[in-house]
Amino acid sequence: MKINNRKGYFGPYGGQFVPETLMGALQELEEAYKRVPKEQKFKKEFEELLKDYAGRPTPLYFAKNLTKKLGGARVYLKREDLAHTGAHKINNALGQALLAKYMGKKRVIAETGAGQHGVAAATAAAVLGLQCDVYMGTIDIERQKPNVLRMKLLGANVIPVEAGSKTLKDAINEALRDWTKNVETTYYLLGSALGPHPYPSMVRNFQSVIGKEAKKQVLEKEKRLPDYLVACVGGGSNSIGLFHEFLKDSSVKMIGVEAGGHGIASGKHAARFSGGREGILHGTKSYLLQDKVGQIMETHSVSAGLDYPGVGPEHAYLRETKRVTYTFATDKEALEAFHFLSETEGIIPALESAHAIAEVMKLAKKLPKNKIIIVNLSGRGDKDLGIIVGKEIYA
Ligand SMILES: *Cc1c(COP(=O)(O)O)cnc(C)c1O
Repeated sequence: MKINNRKGYFGPYGGQFVPETLMGALQELEEAYKRVPKEQKFKKEFEELLKDYAGRPTPLYFAKNLTKKLGGARVYLKREDLAHTGAHKINNALGQALLAKYMGKKRVIAETGAGQHGVAAATAAAVLGLQCDVYMGTIDIERQKPNVLRMKLLGANVIPVEAGSKTLKDAINEALRDWTKNVETTYYLLGSALGPHPYPSMVRNFQSVIGKEAKKQVLEKEKRLPDYLVACVGGGSNSIGLFHEFLKDSSVKMIGVEAGGHGIASGKHAARFSGGREGILHGTKSYLLQDKVGQIMETHSVSAGLDYPGVGPEHAYLRETKRVTYTFATDKEALEAFHFLSETEGIIPALESAHAIAEVMKLAKKLPKNKIIIVNLSGRGDKDLGIIVGKEIYA
């Protein structure tokens, strides 16, 4: 399946919907991205960083307690929670920061909502000796104090964004504005498989290490391919990172899980495929949550990392071609899964990853015992303890 043509389209989705002032920056990036990651020196340095710094390969763990309790398919967890900084985001941050260095840029900028990508970008910038400025909405700065402190400890500068809703989408707008002005010195390190071409392909390629490892590991352990892959979908990077290596294996079914919030009917969710439609946001054409006149809607999820109105364009295409099925888990289901995994396996998942676990809890039961599911445990839950405290389910 060749799904990526030269212009950065996945079927009708993707592209480069940016103002003229950004085209130069994107062309420079595209040119560098085509050339640099193929160089032996870059490959070696990136591999070393992933191995010795980020702690890869992450294990593929057979969750025997969970499997037994659910009473159906065999469930494996891809342990991205064990990567440095506690989530998959570091893979992309290291790849792009290294590319920035090879491009001769001295400064990286990033956007962040919950602060997770800001922390990953600040970490990668620190280890590679780059200056790092992170744009963050003032509401998010208030809500996510521990990550703001982490970024500062890592030597990054957090720039408050007062505009608009004072959250992620406004932070992205400000970062893009900065990039337009400072393209000579500055690299824009985008956090998910989103944005104008070449970001969706580039982020996917840097994250595809997840699926490459998982394939090798499952073949070693089970001598065959899995029947299902399950991952949560925010912008779509951990899921496409797991899925990509298996897209040509037609026996492998794939399920992406969006944030169902308080349910689709409530309007308080971030399930773009269940409640959204086609549109353009932040340089790419994909599925969006928007109102009748095309205004971007407020989203809601208990997990900050899934709380974004758009989804990566490759996912829109994988849905259209029916290669991947998309569903959602509500806040309540995700919280139940969060507790279930913590108690059965001794692993506290990120609330984002708990959405994928919630789907596995429904799916595994329905399948015979000889089926195999791999679920991407995209991150660990330490960052979410503040959100869990005071939730009714816990009281
Ligand atoms: C940011 C984040 C996500 C969502 O982002 P994707 O790009 O969809 O992967 C999921 N899980 C964790 C732990 C995150 O930090």
